[in-house]
Amino acid sequence: MTQAALAAGLEPCVHCGFCLQACPTYLVTGDEADSPRGRIALIRGLAGGRLEARDPQVQTHLDRCLGCRACEPVCPSGVSYAPALEASRRRLADERTIPLSVRAVHAVMADRSLGRVVFPLARAVRPLARRFAGPSRLGLAFGMLAATRPRRCPAPKERGAWTPEPQPAEAPTPRRVVVFAGCVQDGLFGHVHRATARVLVANGYEVMEAPDQGCCGALHAHAGQHDDAVRLARQNVRALAALAGDALIAVDAAGCGAMLKEYDRLLAGDPLETDARRVAARTRDVSELLAARGPRRGAPLGLRVAYDPPCHLLHAQGVAREPRQLLAAIDGLDQVTHVGAELCCGSAGSYSLAQPGLSGEVLGYKVEAIRRVRPDVVATGNPGCAMQIGAGLLAAGESIPVVHPVELLDWSYRRAGYYDE
Ligand code: SF4
Ligand code: SF4
Repeated sequence: MTQAALAAGLEPCVHCGFCLQACPTYLVTGDEADSPRGRIALIRGLAGGRLEARDPQVQTHLDRCLGCRACEPVCPSGVSYAPALEASRRRLADERTIPLSVRAVHAVMADRSLGRVVFPLARAVRPLARRFAGPSRLGLAFGMLAATRPRRCPAPKERGAWTPEPQPAEAPTPRRVVVFAGCVQDGLFGHVHRATARVLVANGYEVMEAPDQGCCGALHAHAGQHDDAVRLARQNVRALAALAGDALIAVDAAGCGAMLKEYDRLLAGDPLETDARRVAARTRDVSELLAARGPRRGAPLGLRVAYDPPCHLLHAQGVAREPRQLLAAIDGLDQVTHVGAELCCGSAGSYSLAQPGLSGEVLGYKVEAIRRVRPDVVATGNPGCAMQIGAGLLAAGESIPVVHPVELLDWSYRRAGYYDE
């Protein structure tokens, strides 16, 4: 990696500061070096040789970045911050050892044989996890595990007549899709994958299998483990690029979706670059696929829902409208808006392990904002966010379930009688 490549995408920054109020870490610490503008100055210093990767100040403030990318859409100059952050993290990783806890989690995600042991164990103990949930570090870890368990619809059945939406007389030709498996989503949120497949089929898609997929590599890329990220991306590109015809890739984990859509950048110059471009172009968040088909209306649920958009859906992929279209297809669903919904929850991959203090402060704002609107359920489309917000709510003594938006649509479709699984 050249010095210039380190700061690629940052050239347009004119130091205007419009991004400061969008940055969750700046809002907590008030320190310019914890703002996008301050970090851009640090990365430019690294790229220009004026600062060293060993410098503790450089490490501290770049480590504190959530990588949430809230600074990108608000930037009037079009600064592309994420690639420079990843490159600088890669440079820092050359100078020091990544914390053991972070490496251990990333190893479980990357190594499918390890995952085949760890995830079933985690699923076996999670029915008990809620008992040990709390505000301590260990309590939050148990809260995160508790937040992964499948939930039943908490709404009683609505009384009165509801007429299911008739199937169109001439159904469109089913578009074939593969549901991207991932690692944590597959190991702990298999129920979300199954709901995703059901609602896609109910909206006229044909869901196919694609073996040999694995972790998307996003957390490795964000932490500076570039070689691991590239290895994982290659594995997925080999598994997905061979999909026949015009099949699309449906992703129900926003962090994975953002990574897959950027495989062309990650594998630039790689022998698999052309295939990576094909995979990136075919990747869609599940909400985009459903919005493209309406989606089909579902039966009333009578719930108050607070939608919390994952950063890697809203800021990284620019998918804002489609999840709300999905929720609007459910009759009787009352969407309430909490302050700062667009701000990161502090999960940010393995950030809560590496930066527990700041992660907890960022989470605290989120939990208080949600509590104020008293929802029956929180909806968010990323496993890390569901675990972080779920743990934060449990630590605050709240039993509000956190589910994926497709789970709400799935509950609604069951009540509509579109399927009875
Ligand atoms: S990143 Fe964009 S918004 Fe932030 S200081 Fe630079 S030009 Fe301004
Ligand atoms: S990625 Fe998020 S935490 Fe990092 S500088 Fe941008 S807004 Fe701040």
